[in-house]
Amino acid sequence: VKIVLAGIVHETNTYCAEPTPLEAFRVERGDAAARREAGTQTYAGGMLAAAGELGAQVAVAFVADTEPSGIIRASAYDAMKEDLLSSLTAELPADAVALTLHGAGVAEGVDDLEADLCRAIRAAVGPDVRIVLSLDLHGNISQELADTVDAMFGVHLYPHTDMYERGHEAVSLLPRLLEAEVRPVTHVERVPMLIPTTTTLRGPLARVNDFCAELEARPGVIDVTLFHGFPYADVPLAAASVVATADGDRDLARDCAEQVAALVWSLRDELLPDSLSAAEAVDRALHVGRGPVVINETSDNPGGGAPGDGTHLLREMLERKLENAVFGYIADAEVVQQAQRAGVGATISVSLGGKTDELHGAPIELTAYVKCLTDGNIILRAIAAGARLEHGPMARLQVGGVDILVGTRRTQTLDPELFLLHGIDVRRSAIVALKSSNHFRAGFEEVASEIVTADTPGLTTLKLEVFPRARTLRPVWPLDAEALYSPSRGTAG
Ligand SMILES: [Zn+2]
Repeated sequence: VKIVLAGIVHETNTYCAEPTPLEAFRVERGDAAARREAGTQTYAGGMLAAAGELGAQVAVAFVADTEPSGIIRASAYDAMKEDLLSSLTAELPADAVALTLHGAGVAEGVDDLEADLCRAIRAAVGPDVRIVLSLDLHGNISQELADTVDAMFGVHLYPHTDMYERGHEAVSLLPRLLEAEVRPVTHVERVPMLIPTTTTLRGPLARVNDFCAELEARPGVIDVTLFHGFPYADVPLAAASVVATADGDRDLARDCAEQVAALVWSLRDELLPDSLSAAEAVDRALHVGRGPVVINETSDNPGGGAPGDGTHLLREMLERKLENAVFGYIADAEVVQQAQRAGVGATISVSLGGKTDELHGAPIELTAYVKCLTDGNIILRAIAAGARLEHGPMARLQVGGVDILVGTRRTQTLDPELFLLHGIDVRRSAIVALKSSNHFRAGFEEVASEIVTADTPGLTTLKLEVFPRARTLRPVWPLDAEALYSPSRGTAG
């Protein structure tokens, strides 16, 4: 059996001011890519492991990936698509294609990147090659995508600690697909909801996952996944959806999807966010009294397309003269370079952060002590364990009782390893501030005495009503009072 791995992975925040150019993408291919991904708790890591267990031959044709950001330039998408298709067809004949995709990709003129790409791949490989995919639960998923491929598997967990399992599951299905022992049919049930970023570790979406697991245990059901959707996109597909796959039985798939959709809809009031300002978040953290309290600035999450250089929460922490507090991290390449030029032990005057736009706050004028400088490279231990993450050169600056990590590249903070790299054991800190919505929980829940979410003005705010919408299908919860879920039964083809 020969399997070709490929993908274009992008979560597109259409509210970002700048479009995403081709140069923003990292491309992996060939044996070097396979070696890098092998053994990591990622989609590709799971796919490679499953292929190894099957004794299959694997070729990594073309996988492009970048941090969530603005709409992909048409020329960039065209170039990547062409490269992917030619790299993939160069590996033919093959029995199957395993794709790692996100689900919320948007390019100029292409609202549903994944469906467009899979249509082109299907046309290139023909009807007999099996196509399976892994997806992120923040995808805005179309029935067209489901109908173009053989089977697709979205992560169930947020933080996405089951990426490896879903990649593994997708490739593990291939022998039965190739032998025609299983004939997956997939129903995509749109739920007219824009769900603010919500963890599945507890609360309403943990209950939904329990129900999905019950349904998956039924005979003939292959997969039932709630896609939370990506609300920071103004496209017709922007919404939650339930994707259910059954063996040869479309009615069964639809029935499962509708039951889960009805449950999610019934829990919607519990999904309304608790939105705290920077001052309220710091008040609440100080009230806890026992550290470390983690404050996550969810609204400036680079993992959802925000710039990561927002100053709202950091400014509040500095003005309140917090003691034994750390902020990790704010993106500002200029300040890192300034710290590098001055060197460890120097005191420098900087204008920190707030350089991308007005929304995320003005730069903070500071005098800071340069405590240490690093290359910003870590191996993740919580989410995506085993994968290498490069933040670019970083600096640890000290201002009074606040230690500030400054990074070159924008990425959400995923792991306490980033603090350890700079000599900080977060278990000894009173307050640990970071920029992430939920992925940080994989590494910080076990050390935090409490987690407080700050929702300052930003591109990934929980306040979905602040975004103008011209193309999102309406009515939709929570924006429109008249939004209503009713099953698609009898209306969908
Ligand atoms: Zn996601």
